[in-house]
Amino acid sequence: MRQSVLVSDFDGTMTNNDFYKLAAARLLPATALESWQAYREGRLTHFEALRQIFSQIRTPVAELEALIHEMGLDASLAGDIARLRKAGWQVVVTSAGCAWYIERLLTWAGLEIGPHGDLEVYANPGSYSEQTGLVMSRPENPLFRSQELGVNKAGVVAQYRKQGFQVAYAGDGWADLDAALLVGPDLRFAKADLAQALRERGETFHFFETWTEVAAALVAA
Ligand SMILES: [Mg+2]
Repeated sequence: MRQSVLVSDFDGTMTNNDFYKLAAARLLPATALESWQAYREGRLTHFEALRQIFSQIRTPVAELEALIHEMGLDASLAGDIARLRKAGWQVVVTSAGCAWYIERLLTWAGLEIGPHGDLEVYANPGSYSEQTGLVMSRPENPLFRSQELGVNKAGVVAQYRKQGFQVAYAGDGWADLDAALLVGPDLRFAKADLAQALRERGETFHFFETWTEVAAALVAA
C-alpha cells in the first residue's frame, strides 16, 4: 500500500485560535501587532513579524501556559490521529509558529511527538523566560528552512512527495498557500485566508471548519 501523510498547519487549523493573536490581545500593548501589519504590507517576513511579537512577552510561565490552553486544540485530535494512523495516514504538523507552545499543547493532549510517536512536528524552535520573552529561531536543517516563514512548509510537503508518499495538506493562512498548491485538489483542505487565497487563484479544495472534518474525510476515502 502506498504510504500516505497528512501535513497540517497548527494555529487556526488544529486549534480555534492563533497563539500570536491571543498573546497580542491578552499580554501585549496594542503596538505589538504593528509587526504583523508590516508583514501584511510586505515590509517584514512572516518569521520576523512573529519573532518580534513573541519577543515582547514577559508574563510568568504559568500564565503563558494558561494562554496556550485557550488556543482551543480540537478536542477529538488524539482520537482522530489514532483513526488516521489505522487507515494508513501519518500526521505531520508544519507550522510557521513556535515549537515551544505547539509541543506543549500536543503533549498535554496525550500525544507523543517524534518519528515513532503519534505525529511529527516541523516548527520554529524556541525557548521562553520572563527575562528574554519567547525567543524563536529558524530551523537548522536547510531542507526545511525558509527565509520567509522560518519553517519551509512547502519544503516539508515536497520531501514527502519526493519519497513517494501520497500527501494531503490542511491549513488556514496565507503562509499555507505554497504548500497547499503542491498537493492535488482532492487532498487539499482549506479554511479562512487559505481558502480565500485558493479561490482567488481559481484553485479547488475541500473547505473545512474543524480539523476533525479533515480526518473524517481522509479516513472515509
Ligand atoms: Mg494557521
